[in-house]
Formats: sequence, C-alpha cells, structure tokens
Amino acid sequence: MYEIDTEKIHKLKPSILQADKIVLIGHTSPDGDAVSSVLALYLALKKITQAEVFPVLPDRVPNYVNWFDHVQDLIIGEQAGKLLLSCDMIFCCDFNEAKRVSHLSEYLLKSKAIKVMIDHHPQPEENLVDYLFSYPSASSAAEIVYSFLKALDQSVIDKTIATYLFSGILTDTGVFVHDSADSQTLAIASELLSYGIDKGKIIRNLFNNYSENRMRLMGYLLYKNMKIFYDYHVGIITLSRREMKRFDFTLGDHESLANLPLSIKDVEISIFIMERSDELKVSLRSKGHYDVNLIARDYFHGGGHKNAAGGSFTGSLHQIRRYIKKNLLPNLKKYLV
Ligand code: 5GP
Ligand code: MN
Repeated sequence: MYEIDTEKIHKLKPSILQADKIVLIGHTSPDGDAVSSVLALYLALKKITQAEVFPVLPDRVPNYVNWFDHVQDLIIGEQAGKLLLSCDMIFCCDFNEAKRVSHLSEYLLKSKAIKVMIDHHPQPEENLVDYLFSYPSASSAAEIVYSFLKALDQSVIDKTIATYLFSGILTDTGVFVHDSADSQTLAIASELLSYGIDKGKIIRNLFNNYSENRMRLMGYLLYKNMKIFYDYHVGIITLSRREMKRFDFTLGDHESLANLPLSIKDVEISIFIMERSDELKVSLRSKGHYDVNLIARDYFHGGGHKNAAGGSFTGSLHQIRRYIKKNLLPNLKKYLV
C-alpha cells in the first residue's frame, strides 16, 4: 500500500500549467504498462495545458497494444532525442534509471527540463529527477498515473484514458495474478471500470489476439526448447534468431512466453532467453517467494521487480545454459525471501 504525495503534485501543478513543451517517455522494449502510462498522461496533459505534449518511446510498441488509438501519435527514434533536449518538462514513466531508455538516455541526462518520475521499480535513480513519484508496492506505473491524475485534476480522466490505464494494470499484473495486485490495485481497477470501459474487449484485445504463427511458436518452444530443472524449481526456455525468423517473432511477444514454465506445478522460476543483436536478452519471472530482481542484478546486469525482471548476457545460448547451471542454480536458495 502507498499513498501518493498529493502535496508534491500540488507543488508541481503550476509548472505543468506553465510549460510550453512537455515530453512523456517510457522504457526501452516498452510493455503494456509503459505504453499505457505514456499515452494516458499524454491525453490528460493535452486537456489541461496549452503546452505541446509529445509521447515518446525508445522503440516500437508490442503488437498487443496496436489497438490503442493513439499509438500512431507516439514518437519513436532520433526525433525523440531532440524533443528531450528542447522541452521544458519530462515525465519518466515506468522506469527507474536513465539507462532504461537505451539510446535516448544521453538526451535525458543532458536535458535541462524539469523532470518527473512516475514509477514502481525499486531503487530509483533519485538525482535523475526533480519530482519523484516512486512507489515500488504499486502493481504498475499505470496505477500510479491514475492516482496522480486523480490528485492533479480528476475531471480529465475519461473512458480512453481509463481504457489505457486498465490495460497497463492488466499487463503488469498478469490479469491481477501477481502478488503486486493488492486491494489498492483492485480498488483502482474498480474505479477505472466506472468510466464505462469494456473490460471483456480490453482483455480479448490484449491477450487473445495472437497470430497463428505466434501460437505455433508457443507450442514449438514448449515442445522443443523448454528444459525443467526440478531440483531447483526452474524452467528455462531459449529462443534463437533463426527460430524468431521462422515464426515471425516480434519484440514484445516475449511477455507471455516468459511466463509459460510457471504454469508447471513445481516450477517457481522461469528464465526466458532470446538472441538479440549482439547479446542475449534474459527475462526472469517467479511465483512464490523467489526474488528475481536480485537474480537479474547479480547475474544479468539487470533489474526489475520481485516477480518479473530482466537483463542481458554476452555470449551464446550454449554459454548461458552452462553459466546458469554452474553459477546460478547452485546459489538459488539465497534468493528466497
Ligand atoms: P522483461 O523481461 O519483460 O523485459 O522485463 C521485466 C521487468 O524487468 C520489467 O519491469 C522491466 O522494466 C525490467 N527489466 C527488464 N530488463 C531490464 C534491464 O536490463 N535492467 C533493468 N534494470 N530492468 C530490466
Ligand atoms: Mn511497469
């Protein structure tokens, strides 16, 4: 449970109202939460300020949010860097440190704009921003954006904003399954429903919208590439570049794949590994008491949350399998919290 700092919001409000150019930015490889937080704030701030408002992301959105009407307003790529340098206010959504915006981080660090962070990842880089709204017990950044807007000016929240925020909460909580979805999350979800959003349609659009290829990839990975280590309660799935090509895989598709091994009764940690340009991307998920944020920090130069984290590894799929077996598995007990 957390209580949003309304006093800080009231202090910030005049700067928002006086700003000429506001940029909203989410993390690299954006997920549903990052996209929805950025777009909800975009629609809300456009309503209450005269400022030009720019929703920005370091790279493309995942397919499962392509049905959001305002995805086409997102600015992705080099133009985004210029905007970060020329604006007078930046909202950092759903990330806790500059390096999480990858190639845009140098612009974010250089920018003289007033910076606001709305996030739920533990251990934020506090001196990056002027106004920090960091609540690691929140299920999602979308949940905090809702509380933020409610305190800023509740009248701006409408059905579209509520639809995006509800989507962000659903994607970050695995439809309320993760421990992070607490009574406060459900209360906020209930308030969002009161804006007349179509809950069933949102869930279908987000989760039952796969291509045939995507579905076959899932079957293929489960059948051929999933290894279970029962002694350690670990399931590992790997995905090579060749397999990505064969099944027309797009970034963002990894979210539901990373969770798959957790559906097995005795598996408590899932490790999903995929080849990326010059390194491997590692996604870690857990159920129960394993803290994968700490595992990501200690073994994969990454971070995240207790039950969902990520990082990277330099080497081949063969090398990472050996690294995990030799170095991580024997030490897993340390990460039981
Ligand atoms: P995913 O595995 O879906 O990319 O990420 C899961 C969670 O871990 C997200 O909350 C994401 O922000 C975080 N995460 C993923 N990769 C990294 C990383 O390289 N560094 C840090 N600090 N967090 C990451
Ligand atoms: Mn999030």
